[in-house]
Amino acid sequence: MAGARPRALRALHVAAELYPWVKTGGLGDVLAALPPALLDQGVDTRLCLPGFPALLDAFRLSDAVRLATPFATERVRVALATVPGSKITAYLVDHPPFYDRPGGPYGAADGRDWPDNHRRFGLLDWVAAALGSGADPNWRPDIVQAHDWHAGLAPPYLRAANAAVASIFTIHNLAYQGFFPAGTFPELSLPAHFYGIDGLEFYGGLSFLKGGLFYADRLTTVSPTYANEIQTPAFGEGFDGLLRGRADALTGILNGVDPRYWDPEHDDAIPLGYGIDTAEIGKEAAKRELRRRFYLEEAAGPIFGVVSRLTPQKGLDLLLAALPALAGAGGQLALLGSGDRELEDGFGAASREWHGTVGVEFGYDERLARLIIAGADCMVLPSRFEPCGLTQLYALRYGTLPVVRRTGGLADTVVDTTPAALADETATGFVFDAATPDALAGALGRAAAAYPDRTVWRQMMRRAMTRDFSWARSAEQYAALYRELVDKAP
Ligand code: ADP
Repeated sequence: MAGARPRALRALHVAAELYPWVKTGGLGDVLAALPPALLDQGVDTRLCLPGFPALLDAFRLSDAVRLATPFATERVRVALATVPGSKITAYLVDHPPFYDRPGGPYGAADGRDWPDNHRRFGLLDWVAAALGSGADPNWRPDIVQAHDWHAGLAPPYLRAANAAVASIFTIHNLAYQGFFPAGTFPELSLPAHFYGIDGLEFYGGLSFLKGGLFYADRLTTVSPTYANEIQTPAFGEGFDGLLRGRADALTGILNGVDPRYWDPEHDDAIPLGYGIDTAEIGKEAAKRELRRRFYLEEAAGPIFGVVSRLTPQKGLDLLLAALPALAGAGGQLALLGSGDRELEDGFGAASREWHGTVGVEFGYDERLARLIIAGADCMVLPSRFEPCGLTQLYALRYGTLPVVRRTGGLADTVVDTTPAALADETATGFVFDAATPDALAGALGRAAAAYPDRTVWRQMMRRAMTRDFSWARSAEQYAALYRELVDKAP
């Protein structure tokens, strides 16, 4: 019809996490922030999530559809709900035998993965593909965007169904691959020829991640530098060849900061809210509280903060080895983390040895994370690889200067304090290259040496707080990608 406005593009996002209800890392934050930002860009965006009790309990549900699936004898209810606090609609795959379990989204409380994760996430992806093929008569997407390995089978299911919908697979972390023994393949109800080197097969088993990487129309990852790095053997986790072959389909789009949750002016986890002009007073109050919580002595040097999963990826073994240098430079450390036993033991011992200088807490604590990010002078992220990294973005927003390794999203978001960057007023942090304790110690030393010059430090804080890491910017780029894909479709 001449003059009729084209209807809005529709995008269905498939994922296993959604902050604040289900979160183990940055993935949950992204799923909370990107869909509303896409909605603001005019993209009609919905979510498809596992029906975890935390979500079913918090959301007001109505029935969308009931589907006969290969994963259960009874039909599976797909419930429809509005995500509380937003205008986003979510489909929840309500299958209690799979999702109503104690522990985390991927494993039991003891940290071990559920043995039937291939079926748990196979069902999620199968339902997403069914929605992509028109299972909900009231809403059919143009784009299905699948996030991380948990959603990796959505593109192959769509391909198997010959669905007229474009698919995007987004890599948040290539190290988690959803690898299962070959014997699980028949349980997934995919055509036999999908199991092969040109398909799901990976080193004698099958990988959900590879399903996404191989079958999606387009691939994205969460920073431009990581998009390049993963095409090399050092970062490709065995997929660099496949990714080089798909380089034309791969884009890096940086994550952003959700101001609804990360705003120092309205953060009830810190003693005194602050903006750009009140940062010093606000941070001083947070710092006092931080010192109290972590038993840190009064000292003139900077407090370095860490909020992190304790895994080899995050490079905190380098920090452990660099602690004498940190303390020697007059710094202190406040660390919150959970994960590897060895690292917990190491930092636990360090906090006893350096009582008053090194404070640690183990566990996952959202409010304490905020206090550290606000009260520390610097946040330390010595990651070996970092797809995007959110903690340094939050730190910048809170006027806390990041000390980071030059990799992935860290390289894309923090500008090192070189003489040139100081002169052209772009410096926002301290960046080092080699993944060694010495290189990290060098950056920590530079930060400690810069700290006493309050005029320069204040300028850097101000600059950090005004950097634009808005989700609007990311959403614009995703929306452009959607349009390109839909325009290209036959
Ligand atoms: P990743 O997803 O690899 O863990 P990101 O930097 O992308 O790394 O996201 C980590 C998110 O999880 C951030 O929001 C960070 O503040 C939070 N986080 C990590 N560890 C903890 C913890 N122990 N307690 C509270 N929040 C944490």
